[in-house]
Amino acid sequence: MTAADRLSTVCDRIAAAAKVARRDFGAVTLIAVSKTQGADAIRPLLEHGQRDFGENRVQEAQNKWPALRETFPDARLHLIGQLQSNKAADAVALADAIHSVDRPSLVAALARAMDAGDRRPACFVQVNIGDEPQKGGCPIADVAALLTAARAADLPVAGLMCLPPADLEPAPYFALLAKIARDHGLSGLSMGMSDDVETAVTLGATHVRVGSALFGPRA
Ligand SMILES: *Cc1c(COP(=O)(O)O)cnc(C)c1O
Repeated sequence: MTAADRLSTVCDRIAAAAKVARRDFGAVTLIAVSKTQGADAIRPLLEHGQRDFGENRVQEAQNKWPALRETFPDARLHLIGQLQSNKAADAVALADAIHSVDRPSLVAALARAMDAGDRRPACFVQVNIGDEPQKGGCPIADVAALLTAARAADLPVAGLMCLPPADLEPAPYFALLAKIARDHGLSGLSMGMSDDVETAVTLGATHVRVGSALFGPRA
C-alpha cells in the first residue's frame, strides 16, 4: 500500500464512523503521528494534502519540521508527548497545538513562554483517564484545578486529551473523557489512535492521532 492508499483508508474509516454518529466528517481533524518517521516518509502525505502532524519529542520535531515547512508552510504541528517544563519555550515556538498539558508547573512554563513571544498554540489538558501510575496526564480529580490554572494563565485551552489503558476496551474511557470535557464547557477531544479511531469518532473525538495505520509499524 502507498502512503496515499493508507491515508484514504484512514479517512474512509473516520468518515464511516462520523456517518454512523451523525457527525460532520469535517469536525474531525486527522493528526498523522510522524514520530520516528523520516522526512521521506512524511513528504508523500503532505503531497496528498495531509496537513496536521503529531510529534512526541520537541527535539526530533525541531530537527525534521523546519525543512518540511519550507515546502509546506501551512503544515500544522501537534506535540503529543510528555513535555518537560524546560522545553516549554521551544514547544511554543514550534507547535500549533500542545496535547500534553498535565500539571501546574507546565501551565506556568507555557504561559511564560507565550507571554514572552507572539505565539499561543492551542492547549489540550491530558487526563490520566485510566488512573495508571506509569502514565502521564493529570489525575481526574485534579482536572478542574488544572483547568482553572490554565484559564487564569490565559492559555488557549482547546479541550482534553487521553491515552486509554492498552489492551482494554477504550469506549468507556473515551466516554468518560467526553463527559469531563462537557462538564467543563470544552469542545475539543483529542482521542483515538490507529486501532480505535472509529470508537473515538463515535464518542465525539475532534482530533484523532494516527501513526501506524498511516506509516506502517514503527521500528
Ligand atoms: C504514538 C502515539 C499515537 C499513535 O499511535 P498509533 O497506534 O501508531 O496510531 C497517538 N497518540 C500518542 C500520544 C502517541 O504517542
